[in-house]
Amino acid sequence: MSDPHELTVLNPSTEETVATVPAASAEDVGAAVVRAVRAQARWAALAPADRARLLRRFADTVDAHLEELAQLEVREAGHTVGNARWEAGNARDLLLYAAGGAERLLGAQIPAPGGFNVTFHEPLGVVGVIAPWNFPMPIAAWGCFPALAAGNAGVLKPAETTPLTALRLAELALDAGLPEHVFQVLPGHGHIAGRALVDHPDVAKIVFTGSTTTGREVMERCARLVKPVTLELGGKSPNVVFADADLEAALDPFSFLDNSGQDCCARTRVLVQETVFEEAREFLADALAAVVVGDPADGKTQMGPLISRQQLDRVRSYVPEDAPALRGTAPEGPGFWFPPTVLTGERPDGRAAREEIFGPVAVLLPFADEADAVRLANDTPYGLSGSVWTRDLGRALRVSRAVRAGNLSVNSHSSVRYWTPFGGFKQSGLGRELGPDALTAFTETKNVFISTEGPAQ
Ligand code: NAD
Repeated sequence: MSDPHELTVLNPSTEETVATVPAASAEDVGAAVVRAVRAQARWAALAPADRARLLRRFADTVDAHLEELAQLEVREAGHTVGNARWEAGNARDLLLYAAGGAERLLGAQIPAPGGFNVTFHEPLGVVGVIAPWNFPMPIAAWGCFPALAAGNAGVLKPAETTPLTALRLAELALDAGLPEHVFQVLPGHGHIAGRALVDHPDVAKIVFTGSTTTGREVMERCARLVKPVTLELGGKSPNVVFADADLEAALDPFSFLDNSGQDCCARTRVLVQETVFEEAREFLADALAAVVVGDPADGKTQMGPLISRQQLDRVRSYVPEDAPALRGTAPEGPGFWFPPTVLTGERPDGRAAREEIFGPVAVLLPFADEADAVRLANDTPYGLSGSVWTRDLGRALRVSRAVRAGNLSVNSHSSVRYWTPFGGFKQSGLGRELGPDALTAFTETKNVFISTEGPAQ
């Protein structure tokens, strides 16, 4: 049973305690929301250029502490140091991008008889952000920073296992001159602090990233208050590899091993045209054997540990000892290690082929032709991401349009850019984050009709 009043942060590669952090109670969340309501009124009243200037100073402060933030992420989340630097840089870059939006929240002017209409993008008020442990800094940033730029206050509840970078970001915001209580971070348990944020009547919107099961509960509770939600949930993304593709690039194992596979966009269903299936299997066997798994602080390491014992047990449950599989290696001893794995004997309707594993495990499945590839790619309750590999441009476009997912890449495995929209179809979520419309997701559109008729005589 975990302590309701305290969170223990473990280093996932050594199992040593990195820190203990007080866990917020429901009352603490309530008090934070009261502070946020007051701070938001003043924050929204600032000139947009002044809000933008403060957010740019915050970005500069993050940049000045980039290495410190990255090292903290390595210790609390076990991310490779290269990834951790990218993550801190992503938070900085999103601050700069969102700051530019503060002065560009443009409305419309709509003609009407006897006058005209103008629309305003009004801030929602206080936005509650509930983040997971897989990308603590970027996901906190995606939920909070565009909301701040649009004139909202943000209250962030990081995951139980990874509160430290979020707490440091809140300190850096104050150092940069952001007014107190505009951006608050409250570490705590999901069913206590997370739920209190969801249920609070003065939290105008919830942005939730995590499992589909918890996301569903968050949405149900928000429905009682008619509270809008953005949900970024699970994935089981396909990597569709046609026979004419550049096989080495298409079968890059980091398309499913990056961040030890704890990535909602991981291409964990490797779908390969049957004429090159054997070749693909041989290539992947060699590629997995070559992956360097170990100390994430070492710049040469390619893959670190899983986040926790619980996650390790979960991943193991999908890979029985005798399962037909290609396997890499992983360290022995303390730490939550699991080797890179590709299951080769799985059926498309098997548990490992359908459920999000959230570990370094993919399934390899053959397809016959384009129609079969699209059918298999869509044979999932999820729809977050995916890749299509072929040199035939027409086919690349047809398949990209036919796959029901929010973020696809052709001849590439990239998914996330802070300047393009991100989000899922089907049970992968609701709403979009990032991209040019990121700020408007944190506003209500208000229409004001202005009469040009003179006063009645
Ligand atoms: P989770 O969904 O339980 O937790 C995510 C966040 O929600 C955490 O901050 C947690 O404290 C909070 N939370 C939990 N219960 C809550 C509640 N009742 N009300 C409000 N907030 C609540 O995820 P998990 O248990 O950490 O991971 C379980 C599985 O979820 C993983 O194995 C993986 O499959 C999936 N997952 C997906 C993502 C993603 O980015 N799509 C991220 C993390 C986990």
